[in-house]
Formats: sequence, structure tokens, C-alpha cells
Amino acid sequence: MNYRPLGQTGLNLSALSYGASPLGGVFGDVDHATGIRTVHAAIDGGINFIDVSPYYGDTKAETVLGLALREIKRNRFILATKVGQYSQAEFDFSAARVTRSLDESCARLGVDYIDILQCHDIEFAEVDQIVDETLPALVKLRDAGRIGHIGITGLPFKVLQAVLDRTDPGVVDTILSFCRYELNDTALADFLPYFASKKIGVINASPTGMGLLTPRGVPGWHQATPLMIETAQKAVAFCAQEGVDIVKLAVQFCVAHPGITTTLVGTSKPANIEANIRYAEEPIDHDMINRVREILAPINNHNFTRGLPANRDALIPSSA
Ligand code: NAD
Repeated sequence: MNYRPLGQTGLNLSALSYGASPLGGVFGDVDHATGIRTVHAAIDGGINFIDVSPYYGDTKAETVLGLALREIKRNRFILATKVGQYSQAEFDFSAARVTRSLDESCARLGVDYIDILQCHDIEFAEVDQIVDETLPALVKLRDAGRIGHIGITGLPFKVLQAVLDRTDPGVVDTILSFCRYELNDTALADFLPYFASKKIGVINASPTGMGLLTPRGVPGWHQATPLMIETAQKAVAFCAQEGVDIVKLAVQFCVAHPGITTTLVGTSKPANIEANIRYAEEPIDHDMINRVREILAPINNHNFTRGLPANRDALIPSSA
């Protein structure tokens, strides 16, 4: 496993990292014992960074992850969770709520310190509130030593940029972008120089596009357009015919980018995370990746967008 520095945080993250949303049953039912074994397999395989949120499975992901983490020494993992989103329709980025949210997450996770606390999906919030209220509350928590670093997450780059352009250097340490660097979408790469200029660490998430590039396909809540689903299924069928796991190509494609510190992959199954760790370390078949990307060309950088109208990226067809 390779480890790379995350912006100016002083943290070195494994190039492949573990996203715990599936522990909340986001992609299908999960029993606690299997979920716990998945977390342990991730750490034993060299992954040192785990991301979660109270939103995933209505706090279930944090609860199951907490059960797993209680059996692991605290210095073996770097932990990120989030504040501000609590259900599909419930967002509360007020200072009081995000401060209480940290206490609740720590209790569920069985820790007294969060390495990176992130504002979860700020496209659903007013930029003014994030800049004037939420981030100052998180700075207080960082100054008090309750958290190490402050992050923001979101799908549209427009809103990440809007916040970073309005905050003083050093307020925000990291961004988490998802579904924008994967076999069918490389938009994040164009923004790396911007994030570097702001000294922001970059976390990439969802190498399979939240299930899009898997044999199982997308879950019901996914906002992929019919064209995205149809084209991705062609790529999945091609890989099956060639005897190659499309998830292998998806993981390798992301992990190979030297400018992306880490890529979070989600699963609730030990065998999947073990396979993904192997994939991250195996040689890459560039010819196969190119052939799959050719099949995906009709949806290249064509992705869904979402959030408040003012926060959405232009030029991306919305399926919301
Ligand atoms: P992902 O692209 O990692 O895909 C997850 C899906 O792929 C699941 O259905 C899983 O079962 C399947 N999968 C994983 N490995 C597999 C394998 N080897 N074989 C077959 N199927 C496999 O999407 P994700 O889980 O949504 O993203 C990863 C993590 O990133 C999340 O868990 C979360 O922690 C983080 N994330 C954060 C945000 C945000 O902050 N807004 C958004 C998206 C993701």
C-alpha cells in the first residue's frame, strides 16, 4: 500500500481508504459481525483512513464502525466523520447542531477525537451559513483540540470553490469529492491545481461511482441518468466477457493518480475490501482501462448534479 500526504495536515493516508457508508445498509442489509470483520480486514490490509457520517443508515454506520474500532488501537486509524446532514431531507449546519453532532458521533464511534470533521454535502446549505456560522464553530472545536482538521464535502465543484474563495487560508484543510474521478468522469483532475493553490488536501470517493461500475449496478436512490446506467452496463458486460473485474479497473484507475491523496471505497464485505486492497497493489493493465474508457466515452464527465440551484455546477445534466 502506498501512503501519501494530505495537503498541509501532516497526515499520511493510504492511497486506498475505507468508506463506511455500506455499514449503514446504504447498499443492502448488513449484519454487524460481517461489517465489523470488513473494518478489521481494511486495517489489517494496510488501510489507515476511514470515512463515515451520522447520515449513513441513520447513524447505523457510525454505530457498527464504532463496534469495530473499539477492538483496534486508536493510533492505527485516521478517522473522518461529518456534520450537517442527518437524513435525505434533514440538514442542520447551525453552530449548536454541528457542535452537538461531534459529541454524538464520538460516543457512537467510541473515540474522543476526530481527525477530520467535515461539513457534509454543502451544496444543500447556504454558502453564507457555512462560511459565517458552521466553519467558525468547527474552528472552535479544532482550537479546543476536539478535532484535528476541518473538511468540506460536496458533489458540485462550484460550491466547494465558493466556500474556499470566501474563507481565510487555514480554515478549511480538506475537501472530499465523490463520483468526479472514476473511469467515466475525470473532472476532479482539472480542479487539483486550484485545490493545491489553496493548500487543500484532496480526498476522492466512490471509485465505482456509488455502484454504477459494478456488476450489481446502482441502488434505487442513485441519481444516475438512464444514459449513464445503460453505458455503464455495457462496460460491465465487456469486462465480464474479458474475464476482468470492473471494480479492479475502477480502483486501480483512481489509486494511480499521484495528485489524489486517497480514494475511499465502500463495501460491507470482507472479501471485497481484501480484493480491493490487492487490486490497489497489482500492476495495471492500461490497455484494458483504455478499452473500458472508450466504451464509457458517451458519458465522459456527464454526471448528475444536485443541491440548491445556486450551488449546482453548470453544464451537467441534472437528474434530480
Ligand atoms: P463506491 O464507488 O465505493 O461503491 C460502493 C459499491 O461498490 C457498493 O455497492 C459495494 O458493495 C461495491 N463494491 C466495493 N468493492 C467491491 C468489489 N470488490 N466487488 C464488487 N462490488 C464492490 O461508493 P461509496 O461507498 O458511495 O463511496 C465510498 C465511500 O466514500 C463512502 O462509503 C463514503 O464513506 C464516502 N463518500 C462520501 C460522500 C460524501 O461525503 N458526500 C459521498 C460519496 C461517498
